[in-house]
Amino acid sequence: MVVVMKAEATEEDIQRVAEKVRDAGGEAFVSRGKYQTIIGLVGDTTRFTSLPLQLMPGVENVMRIGKPYKMVARGLHPAPTTIKVGTAAVGRDSFALIAGPCAVESEEQAMAAASAAKAAGASILRGGAYKPRTSPYSFQGLGERGLEILAECRAETGLPIVTEVVDASHVEHVAAVADCLQVGTRNMQNFELLKEVGQTHKPTMLKRGMAATIEEWLMAAEYVAQRGNQEIILCERGIRTFEPATRNTLDLSGMIVAQQETHLPVIVDPSHATGRKELVAPMARAALAAGADAVMIDVHPNPEDALCDGPQALTPDEVAVVGAELAALARALGRRMA
Ligand code: PEP
Ligand code: MN
Repeated sequence: MVVVMKAEATEEDIQRVAEKVRDAGGEAFVSRGKYQTIIGLVGDTTRFTSLPLQLMPGVENVMRIGKPYKMVARGLHPAPTTIKVGTAAVGRDSFALIAGPCAVESEEQAMAAASAAKAAGASILRGGAYKPRTSPYSFQGLGERGLEILAECRAETGLPIVTEVVDASHVEHVAAVADCLQVGTRNMQNFELLKEVGQTHKPTMLKRGMAATIEEWLMAAEYVAQRGNQEIILCERGIRTFEPATRNTLDLSGMIVAQQETHLPVIVDPSHATGRKELVAPMARAALAAGADAVMIDVHPNPEDALCDGPQALTPDEVAVVGAELAALARALGRRMA
């Protein structure tokens, strides 16, 4: 961190800042310019960020230079990480298709969606048992029974499962079934949930908050990593903008920035990003072309009867087409399908 002193700051002001930093266990290097003095802070920056240096007399500006996230940053870990999810893997050396129903509604519906996912070339099955719905009157998911159905789908198809955990008190029993936990957009900054997930050793897919900056998203990942779980997959799922034509706005460049900033795999969910089925395939192809590590797509045997997110769900036939297109594009780009 660097503290820039005002031109009129006195020697006393400068010394007061330097002492405050030393009292916090850091070192302060004072560099006197012709017009302004700057003070470089060296040491564990987490100790300085909470100091009210900005309020001290003579201080003009306090600037952070290093990244606030450490464990998920590329700095400490330049090579990209591949995360194993059951028998599958998500990382930069292959491209994965994750597919399945938005919500598990019944055994029959989930099984049909799971076999469609498998037939389309998916290596991981998605499906929500606990659904964080905007309206309390909407279908809230089958809960425990939904988890059992997902386990049956895994037994039938051999696909590992990613499913959402919505509350810190659910982490243990969801983790007992899931191969990968999902933290949804609405919970990206539920820090107690993140800490709990961080104490498991389950791979965790962390979706980007719908109004979160990339830095906030990576800080959320840092919460999980800092508690001991570094098995994190980041998922860009669209952000809120002023544009109402799509449910959200897919931030593809944000996906790339996140890949540059961290060693973690970054994937894209074109279903929740667009909310419109006809946009899912083109955005999935765009995500692959831009270098995403996987895409996650909603599938439903009868989208018109879906209890959750029907307008964005692909039918089994439609997802088979997308799966084939992605495989062809991956080949053309020299990427292996996971
Ligand atoms: C989901 O993937 O089922 C979901 C609820 O997504 P999001 O948290 O991105 O809205
Ligand atoms: Mn959904």
